Amino acid sequence: MDFNQFRQLPKAVISLLNKNCRILAGEIVTSRICEADKTEKFLIKLKDSYLIESALLSSDDARLTACISTQVGCAVSCVFCASGMAGFKRNLTKEEIISQFLLMRHHAQKSDKDITNVVFMGIGEPLLNFENLISAIDLLTSPYAANIGSRRITVSTSGIIPGIKKLADYKKQINLSVSLHSAFDDKRNTLVPVNKKYNIKALMDAVKDYISKTRRHVTFEYVLISGLNDSSEDADALSGILKGISCKVNLIPYNRIEGADFKTSASRDVKKFADRLLKNKINAVRRRRKGFDINSGCGQLKAVWK
Ligand code: SAH
Ligand code: SF4
Repeated sequence: MDFNQFRQLPKAVISLLNKNCRILAGEIVTSRICEADKTEKFLIKLKDSYLIESALLSSDDARLTACISTQVGCAVSCVFCASGMAGFKRNLTKEEIISQFLLMRHHAQKSDKDITNVVFMGIGEPLLNFENLISAIDLLTSPYAANIGSRRITVSTSGIIPGIKKLADYKKQINLSVSLHSAFDDKRNTLVPVNKKYNIKALMDAVKDYISKTRRHVTFEYVLISGLNDSSEDADALSGILKGISCKVNLIPYNRIEGADFKTSASRDVKKFADRLLKNKINAVRRRRKGFDINSGCGQLKAVWK
């Protein structure tokens, strides 16, 4: 649909609308709610019929967080992530990124709620779609548009160094999350294949530069997979590379996905891992699993609905 279809409007108005406005770049096909924690996931159809997913995550403290996709599929292909398995199709446009926010906000407002936070943790690698990501954040934070505070916006990356460098020069005080999952290069090479291009030493140097330029602390995401990256040696190695860095570690229990044979770390092992980090003076938080019974936990988003 485009504005030219509004034939009852004067031509000048149509031309103004075409110049300054966009009709939503997607529509909600269906949605599902996880009764346990009220996470809601949305299947969104784009104009070229590709499907993406977005989610709304509720918190006890009245926060409502929109989890937004930035690409159709993902080329990074982390072995534990459903988004990577679908293969990369294309970048989302800025309109498609913003439309996810607008569609979910409209949905939330029907029950008198509003989105307070935005995380770019849906399908795709945000820093491989840098320009559109930044245009979308500019709109989200604009007082003339969504007016979400920069500090309520988080970009999560698998460690794309050129993107981290560009983000360090971005004027807005958004949050950066780096998905680490191992402090050993050989292990990280198999889990997050982009590590072969941007290894841990180079990544940590980029993060340190980012912190010194922005004066912001960084969050590291660490998915705990049983017997793979959850031992005390793993925790000590992680503490080693994070020593002296202004950061927090989010420990995420692995969410099972179809086609991958990994096991979620037992909660006692997650606790042991967290305690070890804390003993090593690394600030660690165990994240609760959200929405996993409707496949909308971290890494479970992919455009297949059964
Ligand atoms: N591409 C970006 C952002 C999207 S993924 C990134 O990788 O950071 C968002 C988060 O979900 C990442 O921290 C990712 O590592 C995590 N994740 C992916 N698959 C997961 C799974 N199966 N279980 C738990 N977390 C997962
Ligand atoms: Fe892509 Fe992130 Fe999934 Fe890795 S974890 S495949 S980078 S979406």
